[in-house]
Amino acid sequence: MKNVEEAVTTFFIDYFLSGRGPYDRAPFAWKKEANMELIDISEELEELGTKMIREHEDLNWIAGAGIDIGYQYSSKPKTSNGKIVYADCYKVPDRLKAYVQHNFIITFYEPNTASLRDDQKEILMYHELLHVGMKETKEGPKYHIVHHDIEDFERVIKQYGVDWAR
Ligand SMILES: [Zn+2]
Repeated sequence: MKNVEEAVTTFFIDYFLSGRGPYDRAPFAWKKEANMELIDISEELEELGTKMIREHEDLNWIAGAGIDIGYQYSSKPKTSNGKIVYADCYKVPDRLKAYVQHNFIITFYEPNTASLRDDQKEILMYHELLHVGMKETKEGPKYHIVHHDIEDFERVIKQYGVDWAR
């Protein structure tokens, strides 16, 4: 990734010094592409998610409720407030329903998860699936993200020990 950044920087310097302008098109398109987040729909993650839903009593309901989850890898080395983000769970907004079949999308950030062991990936997947929430309403099911609370962490720690997040 660093080489790409360097190549882009070199390109910018060369471009501006060469006076080849106009500067409003090529360099910005190229820069954007160099930083592009690549997404890979993952059968491996789908199998892992399905396995976690089947094996964990507190996740069984997800299969029963027919919730549709998309699983993907991202090429982005995501961080938030200086901390590594291994994965996240995203609720597809209602207004995208016509375009996206999934109710939720779980993303594993490939550069951050590449070195995790299989059992750690399982814990991570279990953790992300705990974010899936649904409420039955008169107009049908409404989906939401279940946010972290102490109870959540206790549940994870009880099953996997305190080192689960590493
Ligand atoms: Zn989380």
